[in-house]
Amino acid sequence: MRKGPRAGRANQAPMKTNRRSFLLSSAAAVAITAAESTAQAANEQARMSASDSLKALLRGNARFVAGTPACLPATVRRAELANGQAPFAAVLGCSDSRVPVETVFDHEPGDIFVVRVAGNFADPVGIGSLQYSVAVLKSSLVMVLGHTACGAVKAATDFVKTGKPFPGQIQTLAAALAPVAKSTRHASGDWLHNAIVANVKANVAKLKADPIIGKAEVVGGIYDLASGKVSLV
Ligand SMILES: [Zn+2]
Repeated sequence: MRKGPRAGRANQAPMKTNRRSFLLSSAAAVAITAAESTAQAANEQARMSASDSLKALLRGNARFVAGTPACLPATVRRAELANGQAPFAAVLGCSDSRVPVETVFDHEPGDIFVVRVAGNFADPVGIGSLQYSVAVLKSSLVMVLGHTACGAVKAATDFVKTGKPFPGQIQTLAAALAPVAKSTRHASGDWLHNAIVANVKANVAKLKADPIIGKAEVVGGIYDLASGKVSLV
């Protein structure tokens, strides 16, 4: 049968777990009957809880780490998605080419609303995008996703250390991230990693306080470039 806008999420269910049993793990989905229609399936998925949305992301990441991705090729749902989108999660990630959000969570086009900016911080434009995902597209989960060895955060620690500005608007990035670089400068452990974690936490707090985005569940994660694993922080 034709799949609804979110039906591809079935493919994010754990291996050997079919779509139906995965949906039934959500209390909101208990009412689904054996005769569910495509429209009903889409509606049930639209009511998927933030908790189940987070599980879907982390299960997808586990498949990515294991080298057993299960999502469909990106072209398969193209025609269907031309009719609309209903991403269950929004992710604020870094522009870093090594952290492609859909790939590391093993999800398809239509599943995740993604905002990417170097240093994964929430500026007014990014906040507007995330507000749209929550208020209009009804995404139940928002994740701020940082990553190890982030060059943008490194720029901020370098700026704090040397006081030397970067050329052009690169300095805008460094200046935006400078507060977390400063706050972690004298903490024990690795300064850069501490700043990366602090940056994620600061942006999670910022988004939680937003009157629109805060209606969704907001969580933070760190992607490890070496292992591919996303750990919640
Ligand atoms: Zn980065």
